[in-house]
Amino acid sequence: MRAAVLSGHDLRELAVTDTALPEPGPGEVVVKVETVGVNQLDLNVIAGVGPGARAALPRILGIDPAGVIVDVGEGVDVARIGEPVAVKPNIPCGSCAACAIGAEEDCPRQSVVGVHRDGGAAEFVTVPATSAFARPGLDAAQATAVMHSAAIVLNAVEETGVAPGDRMLVMGAGGTLGRAAVAIGLHRSARVTAASRRPLDAIGSERIVTAPDNSALEAALAHEEPFDALVDVTGHAPTLGVGIATLGWGGRAVFCSASVDPDLRIDARDFYLRRKRLSGVASAGYRHVREALELAASGVIPDLVGDRYPLDDIVRAYTAFPTKKNGKVIIDVR
Ligand SMILES: [Zn+2]
Repeated sequence: MRAAVLSGHDLRELAVTDTALPEPGPGEVVVKVETVGVNQLDLNVIAGVGPGARAALPRILGIDPAGVIVDVGEGVDVARIGEPVAVKPNIPCGSCAACAIGAEEDCPRQSVVGVHRDGGAAEFVTVPATSAFARPGLDAAQATAVMHSAAIVLNAVEETGVAPGDRMLVMGAGGTLGRAAVAIGLHRSARVTAASRRPLDAIGSERIVTAPDNSALEAALAHEEPFDALVDVTGHAPTLGVGIATLGWGGRAVFCSASVDPDLRIDARDFYLRRKRLSGVASAGYRHVREALELAASGVIPDLVGDRYPLDDIVRAYTAFPTKKNGKVIIDVR
């Protein structure tokens, strides 16, 4: 089969080549892949940094494939053959304290498709049957676009505890994660403000704040009524700091990325006097995946599919990724 194989920690060592077909182990399914996303995590694997440093090479990339189940391993219902599915990247260990209470998103021993095992930038991929989710009402590209991005954002919005009528600020609202966060906040009847560096089209009734940098953002938000909840997906910790300052009494901040600049500064006195809270959300649970796929199929989450590249052009897709983002970048495998 054709697969995008990384053989060294450099984009020049990524090539689409012929490799052996994967065999399903017990409890696994084989998915004939139609699409897979381009993610920041792939770039970390390619560079061998952060969570990507743990990938043993050679490795087939691709964390969030979607396609159709074509074979099953021992212990998996053969009726699943033919089922259109999308694959959840993070695989919980199943035996730790977090897994025992159904908080698999917080499992400290989770492994990731395309990092710790071969991924879905290939014609076929094997994954645990529990990681392959039905995707009624969504084509493969739409499901890939939702799987990793929207499920994490759903977890983040839940983590803020935002209630109907609450004021919610989304920072980085122009990207895939940000659009999903705005849509989910509106769906939960929050009063949403969407902040972005570039001009945005509204999804619904959200207020849009455009600010090219942090000082402009700070100025734009200075006279706002304090926010109850903040979801930051910018990857810029200094921007997160600006957002935390806008929170009012008991305000809850959640961030989903620190990939660009991790240096966070907050006013500790203001933070504790106003009883603010801050947490990071880096993965999603099974329930978030199911709900995110449902919200996308019902149109609550807008279509997030952006630029598309054939598998043979995957190196070009990764080269363009850091600068050119227009929705979720999708690789068409089939
Ligand atoms: Zn676990």
